[in-house]
Amino acid sequence: MTYKSKFGFGCMRLPLTDAKDPTSIDQELFNEMVDIYMEKGFNYFDTSYAYHNGNSERAIRKAVVERYPRESFQICDKMPTWALTSEEDNEKFVNEMLDRLGIDYFDVFFIHNINTPWFKLAETHNTFEYIKKMKENGTAKKIGLSFHENADLLEKVLGKYGDILDIVQLELNYLDWEDPAIESHRCYELCVKHGLDVYVMEPLKGGVIVNPNDEIKEEFNGFNPDKSIASFALRFCASLENVKIVLSGMNKMEDLLDNCDTFENFEVLNDEEREFLENMALKLKESVAVACSECGYCVDACPEMIPIPEYFTLYNISKNQPQSNIYRLYFDKLGDEKVPADECTYCGTCIDYCTQKIDIPEELEKVCEHFQSGFSPYAGTP
Ligand code: SF4
Ligand code: SF4
Repeated sequence: MTYKSKFGFGCMRLPLTDAKDPTSIDQELFNEMVDIYMEKGFNYFDTSYAYHNGNSERAIRKAVVERYPRESFQICDKMPTWALTSEEDNEKFVNEMLDRLGIDYFDVFFIHNINTPWFKLAETHNTFEYIKKMKENGTAKKIGLSFHENADLLEKVLGKYGDILDIVQLELNYLDWEDPAIESHRCYELCVKHGLDVYVMEPLKGGVIVNPNDEIKEEFNGFNPDKSIASFALRFCASLENVKIVLSGMNKMEDLLDNCDTFENFEVLNDEEREFLENMALKLKESVAVACSECGYCVDACPEMIPIPEYFTLYNISKNQPQSNIYRLYFDKLGDEKVPADECTYCGTCIDYCTQKIDIPEELEKVCEHFQSGFSPYAGTP
């Protein structure tokens, strides 16, 4: 395996024609991006039953499956663990996914997002046994699970099922590497111990890493003005030996081209760069109010349907750029009939589902204080 072959196309955040409609994938732009990606010799696409409400799979069918020979690309898809209500659902979802994609086998198949509640669901409905059979009968060439939880749970899961799995897809990036809540480093070492390949998701932590404040941007520019912040983050992950795929979710052509360049001219991270990134991680942690990766799992769990990540994003920008027009955007969201942050009932349901271990109700309270305490949203804005 070469470093070049580690670059995977993440299809969770594809380009949209309407920013407010996650199903409105810009198929024309996606097709163009796929063509460039394939032409440059890359071939791995990662999707799930849930991404873009099912339209990620349909868009891959149109852009990849219907335009390229089956043996020229690889597709990874994932069981919607949270939606399982019976053992029969395993087959029902798999058939639906194959149908949406227009294929008859998966190159890689994962149980999606094993956390404490969904691990129980997967065990209750025999999903580990089911994916083992998928591998035996050729429906999946390799199997595994995607995982955002802490190392203790991973140790338990791999202790029981490590011998039937090939891969663990981990959240891994230089910000989370030594983070005590995410424990990327410990999780990676557990995979190594069990002889499993690691596929990386969130190498940019949902964009947190590539959108730092101006001071951090200047430090990167001073360190190496010719390389993007994203390129360092991708190289950090791909330089690890057991990492076999690093996903990047791209919705702009310039991001795709930059990432292609990183992997076409790949250089293993050196000690000086590693030390620099460790320092940047510390600074970034201090500067980000809420380290939300915008994965959206909390929104599905929230009975009030509060658009939690949207509020956290605005809050982070507003804290870092106090002079920005962001207050207005917050109130515009309410104008769009989004449920206000102060409708949180503190039920705590979302906390178990947060991939970043954020105390969501506590942070939402801060969002409310920040945006709503005696503030006139349109005062002084153009
Ligand atoms: S604690 Fe608040 S944000 Fe979380 S699920 Fe309950 S109402 Fe929603
Ligand atoms: S608050 Fe947590 S679960 Fe919700 S989008 Fe952010 S990281 Fe994901």
